[in-house]
Amino acid sequence: MITLPNREALSSLSPLERFGLDVLVDLSRCAIVEDPAADVVRVAIADPDPKVADLRACAAQGWYIERSDGVVRVPRAILRRVAEIATGAAERRSTARDRFGRVPSGENELVQQNLVAEPVVADAAARLREAVVASADRRPTAFLTPWPDGKRWAAAITHDLDVVDLWPVFTALRMAELARKGQVRRIARTAWSAITTIGRNPVQRALRALLDAERERSIVPSWFVLCGTPTFRTMRAGDLTYHPEGRGATAALRTLQDRGCEINLHGSFATSDDHALFAEQRRRLAGLTQSPVLGVRQHFLRMRPGETIRGMAAAGFRYDTTAGFPDRNGFRLGVGDVIPAWDGAGGGEQPLDIQEAPVIWMDRALSKYAGIEDPDAWITEGIALADACRATEGLWVGVWHPNLTPALGFPDAPAAFAALLDRLLARQPFVAPLGRLVEWRVARRGVRVRGILPDGRPDVYATRSVTDPLTLEDVSGARRHSIPATPR
Ligand SMILES: [Zn+2]
Repeated sequence: MITLPNREALSSLSPLERFGLDVLVDLSRCAIVEDPAADVVRVAIADPDPKVADLRACAAQGWYIERSDGVVRVPRAILRRVAEIATGAAERRSTARDRFGRVPSGENELVQQNLVAEPVVADAAARLREAVVASADRRPTAFLTPWPDGKRWAAAITHDLDVVDLWPVFTALRMAELARKGQVRRIARTAWSAITTIGRNPVQRALRALLDAERERSIVPSWFVLCGTPTFRTMRAGDLTYHPEGRGATAALRTLQDRGCEINLHGSFATSDDHALFAEQRRRLAGLTQSPVLGVRQHFLRMRPGETIRGMAAAGFRYDTTAGFPDRNGFRLGVGDVIPAWDGAGGGEQPLDIQEAPVIWMDRALSKYAGIEDPDAWITEGIALADACRATEGLWVGVWHPNLTPALGFPDAPAAFAALLDRLLARQPFVAPLGRLVEWRVARRGVRVRGILPDGRPDVYATRSVTDPLTLEDVSGARRHSIPATPR
């Protein structure tokens, strides 16, 4: 258990520094005690600036977190640095754009420092937790259990529904791509699959096969569905390619609902500039599914860092899961977990009432941009990143496109997807739809300890109730006790 810096010290922090502190404490899992006089480890702010530009050096120095008897000091400069990474500050400042209007990955500091495969923010939080344990002496300590059911990390399987109608067009585009890459055998296998499935709708069949593979493993996925009206221009750009009310999309949505999937919005290209469209597309999708739409992910991950998220929050989404790299896999915000999103637009500079669950791995990141066409190589990288999430007790969010099927140009993809699921499950994650994971993490963040009871136990309570119980644990994680919900 910890107490936060006193009111005066907190008010000396800039909004970004305060955000860094909140993210670090949340990810550290240390339970926060409200009674300032409680005899637990105190977290304090240190002012000397240890020079924090080089993140690898920061990590090597334990993020300059100082330990002493009953007090842990975190440099203000580290709070700022952590917040810069977790809010994508360098990307927010960048004016560079690629041909899809996205900030190029090279503008991200973690890419520049060759650290995309390492969740540096989560690492800093783990060092904070270690410092608290080392400074506690005989003071009581308690930590939030990382995930429900005694699981030490979590995984969310997500899918973007990009293709429903006109599938032969996508087959032709993919064959042209394979031809450019000299993938002669894959072209032949694709052509054969496409010819033998004509008239049998390979898109709907692939969708069912994917859902079957998940159901066999008791996995409930989260889906992201486009919900705007396609035009010739949007179709040619690979943006909106199907009518959400059309026959194909209606059949797909019905299948997803029958399987109990979470259905979210896949924001079209225009939403990232015209925020009013978020509310319109969200309403339209909710009308089709007859249930609230909790989450959003941008098609092609097209968004303006720190700005598009404001439109998402204003439209009432609970979470976004766009913050991954389109052209590589890894930790775009230095973390695989759920953190509050940041309002980075002019005059904003504050956390928003919407969560970010960054994408850590995407099926086609290696294929589309690095030219690697062997699905086994894709999933090997996915599993390595899942291990990094597991090591930091975080959340791995993976994207698999249902159109990766032989008739659309991906002969070995379905088998690779099944292997990916098996390898993830062998590592024992807590697996749930992303919306449920987000709500649970928000509830975990809201747990507080009023004070220490005479028998030494923490007087702990949760500020919101969730389906999966919240628990406190000791430093070893062996002894747990449940946390009662006390709605305010
Ligand atoms: Zn998409």
